[in-house]
Amino acid sequence: MHEDEFTRMREHMVHYQMKNRGIRDKSVLAAFSRVPRHAFVEKHQQPFAYNDHPLGIGSGQTISQPYIVALMTEALRLKETDKVLEIGTGSGYQTAILAEMVDEVHTIERIASLQEGAKKVLDELGYENIHYVTADGTDGHDEAAPYDAILVTAAAREIPKDLLSQLKDTGRMVIPVGGHFFQDLFLIRKRGDVHDRKNLGPVRFVPLVSG
Ligand code: SAH
Repeated sequence: MHEDEFTRMREHMVHYQMKNRGIRDKSVLAAFSRVPRHAFVEKHQQPFAYNDHPLGIGSGQTISQPYIVALMTEALRLKETDKVLEIGTGSGYQTAILAEMVDEVHTIERIASLQEGAKKVLDELGYENIHYVTADGTDGHDEAAPYDAILVTAAAREIPKDLLSQLKDTGRMVIPVGGHFFQDLFLIRKRGDVHDRKNLGPVRFVPLVSG
């Protein structure tokens, strides 16, 4: 498939799956227009990379549906100067979207082979503002804390305490919370010792595996 064809499919995705469903933030839409989603999936999956559904990326993991990635990103209300922590690098697609929008991204993945694959693609695309950690992301990454925003791309039973404590006083976190098969996507806003949470709707993510 030709690059022009991928560009056309990407524009179609941004228009029909994002703008038409209420994603408004111009910097979010611009990031989705730039990042080549097909580069993050295996060759045989590339013709489907811009379709309105998740795709398998090996090791029993998935790259989320494009709209869900957009919804999560927009909810974080990112500024260019933000430092962001992502839990669950997976394919690296969401990592690329974040790296387009902010100065500094830290991304944690527990499966080393997945993170190596993601890093290779992200390096080839020229991203220089991403820091990679292979570890259990439930504990966050204290070394670079506090963060303006934390994005968790696997489902937690409850909100990990360490992640809350690594958020800045005005920080935001987006995290799917619930059982093994169904969860709700939450936006947590920290204001000093107080957190408020907003339910962004039902989602389905692979579980956050601890330990
Ligand atoms: N953001 C990814 C979605 C990946 S799916 C993308 O755009 O492709 C969720 C990822 O979270 C999987 O790669 C899984 O291995 C990882 N994961 C699950 N539990 C984890 C944990 N405790 N710490 C770090 N990563 C974890």
